[in-house]
Amino acid sequence: MLDKFSRKINYLRISVTDRCNLRCRYCMPEEGVCSIPHKEIIRFEEIVEVVRFTIDKGIDKIRLTGGEPLVRKGIVNLVKELALLKGIKDLAMTTNGILLNEFAEPLAQAGLHRINISMDTIDPEKFRYLTRGGDINKVFEGIKAAQKAGLSPLKINCVVEGNSMTKDAEAVFNYCKSNGLEFRYISQMNLSEGIFQVVHGGTGGDCQHCNRLRLTSNGKFKPCLFSDLEYDIRELGIENAFEKALNGKPEKGTKNHNNCFNNIGG
Ligand code: SAM
Ligand code: SF4
Repeated sequence: MLDKFSRKINYLRISVTDRCNLRCRYCMPEEGVCSIPHKEIIRFEEIVEVVRFTIDKGIDKIRLTGGEPLVRKGIVNLVKELALLKGIKDLAMTTNGILLNEFAEPLAQAGLHRINISMDTIDPEKFRYLTRGGDINKVFEGIKAAQKAGLSPLKINCVVEGNSMTKDAEAVFNYCKSNGLEFRYISQMNLSEGIFQVVHGGTGGDCQHCNRLRLTSNGKFKPCLFSDLEYDIRELGIENAFEKALNGKPEKGTKNHNNCFNNIGG
């Protein structure tokens, strides 16, 4: 499936919740966000329907994100249902890792292929500060559990201020090297100011080669992280919303005033 700039679109990122068990300083305010009312949160049946429809259109790569996907009740069942759909080559999740010790094995059993874990520092105090209260040891345990469960390759996402490696990122890099993990760093972005760049070691932020569409936790297709465009699957129907998102995908990202990272999924 090509968009109007002849980019092949095969990747759908789904934010399954806007809620989170951390409050990373660059992502969420301390008091959390005014959560989307429960009835507006996309239901699992809707997600499965969307995924089934988009597979037929050419999507073969799915990533579940959030908010924190592991705080969404029933997430393992969602993975199980998605894994049963024919046509997904890559079924992945991005998580902060806090609950991964408990979830890694059930997720792998359910059919999840791989996981990206976000970790900006390995220093316990700094981690607590950056996430406003997170316990890095839970993430370390989660990483071990994910390795044991065979969720591979295991990638670590590290957000840095500015656009080069920081001391914290270097320490995360060394930790990754000694523990057989892939490492990539992401410059801190700002949606409303339109500040973004290429993910180092990843595929995000490169508009010319962008292969993504997104589904927000309140059921809207978004053609671009850095755009206000969004198309509600409930108002327009899945097919119509999808076509509008595909055809409306901008050539380049600009700014996004409608979303925060936690409801669009980073
Ligand atoms: N809670 C999960 C996590 O933290 O991995 C998934 C959702 S989170 C919004 C997805 C990714 O977006 C994470 O890797 C996070 O570090 C990144 N992110 C959040 N806010 C960001 C920002 N302002 N700039 C760059 N990346 C950001
Ligand atoms: Fe939560 Fe992920 Fe945002 Fe941190 S980056 S507050 S873990 S959603």
